[in-house]
Amino acid sequence: MSHPPVDVVDELEARLETLRRTASYRQRKTAEGPCTTKFLSQDQVLLSFASNDYLGLANHPRLAEAAAVGMAKWGIGAGASHLVGGHTRAHHALENRLAAFTGFPACLYFSTGYLANLAIAPALLGRGDTIFADKLNHASLVDAALLSRAKLVRYPHLDLAYLEQRLRAGSTGRKLIVSDAVFSMDGDIAPLRELLALAERYNAWLLVDDAHGFGVLGPQGRGSLAEQALASPRLILMATLGKAAGVAGAFVAGSATVIDWLIQKARPYIFTTASPPLLADALLTALDLIEAEDDRRERLNSNIRHFRDAVRLQRFTLLPSRTAIQPVLIGSDEDTVVVAEYLRSQGFYVPAIRPPTVPPGTGRLRISLSAAHTPADLDQLADTLQQAERATA
Ligand SMILES: *Cc1c(COP(=O)(O)O)cnc(C)c1O
Repeated sequence: MSHPPVDVVDELEARLETLRRTASYRQRKTAEGPCTTKFLSQDQVLLSFASNDYLGLANHPRLAEAAAVGMAKWGIGAGASHLVGGHTRAHHALENRLAAFTGFPACLYFSTGYLANLAIAPALLGRGDTIFADKLNHASLVDAALLSRAKLVRYPHLDLAYLEQRLRAGSTGRKLIVSDAVFSMDGDIAPLRELLALAERYNAWLLVDDAHGFGVLGPQGRGSLAEQALASPRLILMATLGKAAGVAGAFVAGSATVIDWLIQKARPYIFTTASPPLLADALLTALDLIEAEDDRRERLNSNIRHFRDAVRLQRFTLLPSRTAIQPVLIGSDEDTVVVAEYLRSQGFYVPAIRPPTVPPGTGRLRISLSAAHTPADLDQLADTLQQAERATA
């Protein structure tokens, strides 16, 4: 049997057409201004619930000033990767500061969280080893597992009994348990203490991705592990610096041994240009604000409570979450898109999240709250969600 020849370009165009037909097609929205609660597009100003700028730092004048001072000192580009000349005193100071802030012995700064996650599992594990991962973990953790060539066991969301059964079934190689601390599309929180206990019992590493907890949870925003006062040499923390910290990049924190090993072996660290040193300077200032300004976290938390109290839904479901991520479950891809477009027509930017980012049939609005929202913003959104239920019934 031979297939009729199909032009590769036509074939790809047909696949795009399928995405368009099935409400799976993605389109970017172009911002004409900085990240604030107002999303400025060419023809509209939208009240935005789309950013991960939970503390309102992304456009903070003190960060911009630190970046400007950093630029005067370092110029723009680092010019090289960290191991061949691109590692500056600014990067180094940031790593030391992050280690002290999170309570880990050592720390390594990466240019993005995606790269940081890609670095860890493939450096620590390989063929014959096993990774145990929550099914709702971030895509970067899944990709890292595939890249590592270790066996990947995905356990049902938060199902520790299943996880333990699989750990007990015992494999000979190294083991790594991986979990988001705050799940990025659900806003719920992993049982980190219990996960660490399992890691201890079965001699596994525990990698915690705290992209959505760093800066907002725990004392002074030190993150999810600090909130639960957890520490262990088998614990590895990854957190991002483009969300609550308002800048860009990410870090891995762990024992001096782990960090030393990553510097030797982590390909997404070694084979990429160091990010501009001025960003490290801006991040040092962001950490000052995160540490000192409890009122930002208080405003965020009161916004979360205010929004949950204000929302009254019949057909849609506000998922249980005490974090800044407040998902409203809609269902089919088509319905999710229709509701998101209705909100946009009313002046709100709330992203529609569809498969493959979430499981099929669980399309949702991902509402992200910030300390920078006002209570009136939240009331307006709650009202408009109710209208959306009626308008799209
Ligand atoms: C955003 C995110 C990442 C990726 O971080 P970037 O710095 O944006 O690349 C990783 N893990 C989780 C859970 C995230 O939400």
